[in-house]
Amino acid sequence: MTVLEAYTETAQQAFSFEGGHAAVKRCQTCKATRTLAEFAPHNASRDGRRAHCKECCLTERYRPYIEGPEQRARRARRECRPEWRRGHRRAVERYAARYPMATNATKALRRALQSGRLAKADHCQVEGCASRHAIEGHHWSYAPENWLDVLWCCAAHHRQGHAQGFIVPAAGISAHYGTIPERS
Ligand SMILES: [Zn+2]
Ligand SMILES: [Zn+2]
Ligand SMILES: [Zn+2]
Repeated sequence: MTVLEAYTETAQQAFSFEGGHAAVKRCQTCKATRTLAEFAPHNASRDGRRAHCKECCLTERYRPYIEGPEQRARRARRECRPEWRRGHRRAVERYAARYPMATNATKALRRALQSGRLAKADHCQVEGCASRHAIEGHHWSYAPENWLDVLWCCAAHHRQGHAQGFIVPAAGISAHYGTIPERS
């Protein structure tokens, strides 16, 4: 096999598609090419998976970067730039095109909160959590009749719930509120 043939074969593997997404990708930490199943689900990324493989996350080979005041200030400056804002707007549009129902649910909830028609709970409604910080509404269903019917939880529990596929609501709150619906 020539070098070119070997290269072409690798490139074809790297770009083999499954359901519209590359079936394999390269881990940003260990640099190994792995199947998508080897990356934890992550809603914020375009292919729905983390950039760092499960093995790197579990063994702490990948250490999440924690922002200090200096980095935060630098990020604030970066996010003011027109090219950042353009890119961000495109990402938001891509998300809305891909998940119209989830987007409409979020918009309806935001409007209701802004107009004062609805108020957030004052603390996280996840079992064992009393956080009053960064409370968000979690939709157990994206059907229009449920757009304002949410579980209130802190941002950390919200993200964790979507990543693990379920949320356990506190005692006295119906368990169905912990459902993670298919994004649509
Ligand atoms: Zn890795
Ligand atoms: Zn949610
Ligand atoms: Zn919480």
